[in-house]
Amino acid sequence: MANLKLRFEKGRIYTYIGEVVVSVNPYRAMNIYGRDTIEQYKGRELYERPPHLFAIADAAYKAMKRRNKDTCIVISGESGAGKTEASKYIMQYIAAITNPGQRAEVERVKNMLLKSNCVLEAFGNAKTNRNDNSSRFGKYMDINFDFKGDPIGGHINNYLLEKSRVIFQQEGERSFHSFYQSSINDGADFKAVADAMKVIGFTPDEIQTVYKVLATILHLFTGNVLVFLYLSPCDLSQGNLTFGVVAVIGVLLATKEENVGKALLYRTVATGRDVIDKQHTTQEASYGRDALAKAMYERMFCWIVGRINDVIEVKNYDAKVHGKNTVIGVLDIYGFEIFQNNSFEQFCINYCNEKLQQLFIQLVLRQEQEEYQREGIPWKHIDYFNNQIIVDLVELQHKGIFSVLDEACMTVGKVTDEVFLQGLNSKLAKHAHYTSRKLSPTDKSLEFDRDFRIRHYAGDVVYSVVGFIDKNKDTLFQDFKRLLYNSSNPVLKMMWPEGKLSITEVTKRPLTAATLFKNSMIALVENLACKEPYYVRCIKPNDVKSPLLFEYERCRHQVEYLGLLENVRVRRAGFANRQEYPRFLQRYKMISEFTWPNHDLPSDKEAVKRLVQGCGFEHDVAYGKTKVFVRTPRTLFCLEEQRDEM
Ligand code: ATP
Ligand code: MG
Repeated sequence: MANLKLRFEKGRIYTYIGEVVVSVNPYRAMNIYGRDTIEQYKGRELYERPPHLFAIADAAYKAMKRRNKDTCIVISGESGAGKTEASKYIMQYIAAITNPGQRAEVERVKNMLLKSNCVLEAFGNAKTNRNDNSSRFGKYMDINFDFKGDPIGGHINNYLLEKSRVIFQQEGERSFHSFYQSSINDGADFKAVADAMKVIGFTPDEIQTVYKVLATILHLFTGNVLVFLYLSPCDLSQGNLTFGVVAVIGVLLATKEENVGKALLYRTVATGRDVIDKQHTTQEASYGRDALAKAMYERMFCWIVGRINDVIEVKNYDAKVHGKNTVIGVLDIYGFEIFQNNSFEQFCINYCNEKLQQLFIQLVLRQEQEEYQREGIPWKHIDYFNNQIIVDLVELQHKGIFSVLDEACMTVGKVTDEVFLQGLNSKLAKHAHYTSRKLSPTDKSLEFDRDFRIRHYAGDVVYSVVGFIDKNKDTLFQDFKRLLYNSSNPVLKMMWPEGKLSITEVTKRPLTAATLFKNSMIALVENLACKEPYYVRCIKPNDVKSPLLFEYERCRHQVEYLGLLENVRVRRAGFANRQEYPRFLQRYKMISEFTWPNHDLPSDKEAVKRLVQGCGFEHDVAYGKTKVFVRTPRTLFCLEEQRDEM
């Protein structure tokens, strides 16, 4: 903590724990990302230069290029900690150091990858009370490289867009940026996004359709539609009222006005062989409208990601001719969240962080362990809190919270959030990390019949069950799907293929939101686990966006839940640095008479031993099969200093 604080105050925002880079948001423009800095880090080893994101990016790139490894860079931290900025600097770095031959196709791909950020941020980011440019979705991007180490394509996966933002925002927050970029303030952004979309290859019709979807959502929430929902349905069928807004929506969606009106007010249900139109209650109608707005936006967002993927996906790469194409993945995903009121979204996000923490523990420990074993260095196990028990609590089949939730949603008849809570209590009451009991008579954190508390690895979080059932079912009436599928706008129609089914054909229940999210997280973790990981842990120094303030307690809490203490412990028990013998010699041979300019020992390993003895560092060094291991950074710095003095 003292280190982080001191470094932050001196403008050294990056610090290493082994190969993990800890980044403290400086909240001011730093002159450390320019061309000259890039040159300083290009092709260097991690410890040769002061800690920097670029060094991590370079390490991931080198591992990929030299050793043909798929690598990934996992960026984590809470909202406003600097994840997205970090991911952009990493991309810029990779773009800057590749394609020395200026091949046109590679330049095209690089340009697309960089431009895609601008579009995704417009549609997936929003101003929140924590961050003016907060990502409201998780993003994982693969960059593919050819045998020369040049980017030849990519792929983006997006996770759980916070679509409820379309219909509701907290005081002081906004909906997604895209809804404002035509107003005066956001005018320049609008132009940038429009240009980026054009460059990426969205057709004018596609771009128009995007604006029409945005406009439809805005119109759905104008006062008129609210009034309209209270009108009697016979007024609608007789056409004796002018439904201004509904007519406008009809035009925007390229469908008949009366179809829009009907889909908002009725629901087609199949009763045995008959198909009837059942009129919505006011409550159902407004639920339906909200669901429509959310679903249209989410669907459009996923479609945009899909379109970007069409353009950046690797084409014409023949692995037989050129060898395997390798990948660097960059993950910029929401950090752990504890709000005043925590709901289904926070539950999913925090589960995601449990999964990533589990991966971090496994990989950081596993990697260390495997390396020591491979090199024949003795290793004793380090104690750490294994959060697998919490991951299981959430995701285990039949027993976990997601299963209990899905079961509750499956119940026929009226299910309430309370039924879900009772299910949890009957199945999980004894679990060490679950409770719905008050800790003491004065404990105000829990309300009976409404809340439950999870002891996460990062701390206790109380979740309100209100809304869990609805959010998990995530129902969009079939009528809306058919409405959109039957639009004469082909772009819109394409977004809603399942609207093709008629009411009697729809039988399968769609997967619940929890199940979809769980499956996507399991797939994500599997994907990351088979890559060589690099970590960026972002810390937010204060809540007021100040470049001067390092709030100690706030930072300490983040250090704790990011698992940095465990990280340090593991590093301490092991070795700070390891290098292959030839590389070590190459770098330090000038400081020893035995090795300069050449050695006459039987192997590089023997030569390194002699060099280390000569400098008096044996106590701090272990010799593996192919690598020399240095326990403390101090020794390494001494070596570096001696080298500089030569
Ligand atoms: P969220 O989870 O809400 O998406 P985040 O971790 O992605 O948050 P960013 O959007 O990357 O956070 O950063 C928030 C703000 O902090 C940026 O808009 C910028 O003002 C500032 N910031 C972050 N990193 C840096 C940096 N390296 N240099 C200067 N300013 C930074
Ligand atoms: Mg972000």
